[in-house]
Amino acid sequence: MADTESPAETEAVGAELAGRLRPGDVVLVAGELGSGKTTFVRGACRALGVAGAVTSPTFNIGQRYRGRVAVSHLDLYRVEHPEDEDPALLDEYLSGDSVVFVEWPERGDPGVGPVTARVHLEHRGGDRRRVTLA
Ligand code: ADP
Ligand code: MG
Repeated sequence: MADTESPAETEAVGAELAGRLRPGDVVLVAGELGSGKTTFVRGACRALGVAGAVTSPTFNIGQRYRGRVAVSHLDLYRVEHPEDEDPALLDEYLSGDSVVFVEWPERGDPGVGPVTARVHLEHRGGDRRRVTLA
């Protein structure tokens, strides 16, 4: 558990977790809108060597990045019933060769497989956030 006071601090918590991740690992990142899920994923991606923009995939269910390892970033916010999604749609993200981050895992499980870590972010007023790792 960590209380952070800035986006940079939340990114640093993500970076710390990233040091323990390997291709095939799945990280669920839960929490309300604006709680810092994408910020956390961005910090983790930077630590994995991803140089480009890391933003919530808004119009697609996910995106892929290339760092020292491949990274998949799913956002289920707009998916009402992830468990009903065509598995073929997720193949490119869940092929097992990438570290996978999933925002809005509360929506349901589209078949991500075994989960390596669960992160929960919470608003604590202003720029404070509570980051819980399990
Ligand atoms: P989510 O993906 O959960 O909707 P984002 O990471 O996209 O959230 O947005 C979080 C917003 O809150 C950003 O605008 C970020 O700059 C701001 N912010 C302020 N303080 C923090 C903090 N301590 N940790 C993470 N984000 C913070
Ligand atoms: Mg987001």
